[in-house]
Amino acid sequence: MPRWVVVGGGAAGCVVAARLAQRPGHEVLLVESGPRFDGVPTPAASDLGPYLSDPNRLLPTEVVRRPGRHPEPYLQGHGLGGSSLVNGSIVTGDDPGGHLLPLEEPWAHGPLSAALLDTDPHARPVRLVRRDRRRVTVADAYLAVAPDSLTVVVGEPVRSIRFEGRRATGVQLAGGTYDADAVVVCAGAIRTPALLLRSGVAVPGLGDHLQDHPAFTLTLSLTDGVADPTAPTISCVADHGGFQLLPVEHLSTPGYVALMVGLTTVSSEGRVRLGRDGEPVVELGQLTDPGDRERLVAGVRSALELLSAEPFGAVVERVFVDSAGTTTDDLWSTPDRFEEFVVEHAGGHYHVAGTAREGVVTDAGRVRGYDGLFVADASALPGVPRADPYLAVVTQAERLVSTLTVP
Ligand SMILES: Cc1cc2nc3c(=O)[nH]c(=O)nc-3n(C[C@H](O)[C@H](O)[C@H](O)COP(=O)(O)OP(=O)(O)OC[C@H]3O[C@@H](n4cnc5c(N)ncnc54)[C@H](O)[C@@H]3O)c2cc1C
Repeated sequence: MPRWVVVGGGAAGCVVAARLAQRPGHEVLLVESGPRFDGVPTPAASDLGPYLSDPNRLLPTEVVRRPGRHPEPYLQGHGLGGSSLVNGSIVTGDDPGGHLLPLEEPWAHGPLSAALLDTDPHARPVRLVRRDRRRVTVADAYLAVAPDSLTVVVGEPVRSIRFEGRRATGVQLAGGTYDADAVVVCAGAIRTPALLLRSGVAVPGLGDHLQDHPAFTLTLSLTDGVADPTAPTISCVADHGGFQLLPVEHLSTPGYVALMVGLTTVSSEGRVRLGRDGEPVVELGQLTDPGDRERLVAGVRSALELLSAEPFGAVVERVFVDSAGTTTDDLWSTPDRFEEFVVEHAGGHYHVAGTAREGVVTDAGRVRGYDGLFVADASALPGVPRADPYLAVVTQAERLVSTLTVP
């Protein structure tokens, strides 16, 4: 009877574990380092903030965004469901089908989204991974349909993968070992390469080609009385082919919203290395490519021009370009500093991908030079996709799991 261990119960890991367990006669162990949230009431339909501020749902992670910067916190989901516990759960690309995620149209548009849909011919409603307006995580969607041949262990980080020669034979946890005929690593694009490196896996390019979607946030104060607390946090996006405009209707301070300018076509690359303590050291390399910088700066200029259009006048009071209260007037008054300011203040969308892409793995997800060792998460994507990556990760996992075989 083939025995599988799947490491990481996130967007990819839940798909892989559930599908493998559906194979007659296969036994699957899914090991997740974070907790299980079954039965924990989900916050109100429109809220994203409570998820993002819940430390139980976050795996402490730091990244250096650009060379020369200090490490800063970076959001990654922790627990069964992985980053689908905390993500915006928006789907912006085409839906190829063949997955179990329920997709809903937004039930309303807040004032900023309505103005964008009115003004920008590129603006379209997104789809939300929801059922009856409530978040459905990938664990909710997939593990509920998994048979008894799936065993789930939570609260146990996998320390290393065990080998006989170049064949994976199981995993090492704090409390003991689990034997397996094959191991599928789905610990996310930061921790998958770190775990493989920590386990002694040597494949050229492992941990390289790290990508993310950089984004610059414009914070807007709303005109009194226009806020809609019941609207989805994100309900539409304007894709300008290279960058997207993403209205965010709820921030932690009531009366404020945000327009995020996110780069969708990304050339910059960073990498994940292993620190002395065995933990990942992450250099995002954000905006190191001059073309990326140009496109993001052009996107911010377009967004600022768009905001001067009439439909926004009725809902937006003031526009701020950082959290220190710098206004657009301050920024325009020093035009030679515009690009530097945008690059310096850019954040990102937490969409890491590409650190074990094809080359490190075969097109069937097998780690080159090793038997019984696979990668099926965002690490195996060719880079960060043009659209928001959640659905791409789930559909890639569906494709890869159908090809996985024990040696
Ligand atoms: C804040 C945020 C907002 C986002 N918003 C969107 C969005 O709106 N739309 C969209 O398309 N995408 C969004 N994303 C991205 C999307 O959620 C990810 O692309 C996707 O979840 C990646 O899937 P994954 O399986 O690679 O990793 P994850 O879903 O992060 O899963 C990795 C899992 O592995 C576990 N793990 C790590 N190390 C170990 C170990 N050693 N042992 C055992 N378990 C381990 C982690 O706890 C985690 O559960 C967002 C992401 C974040 C963080």
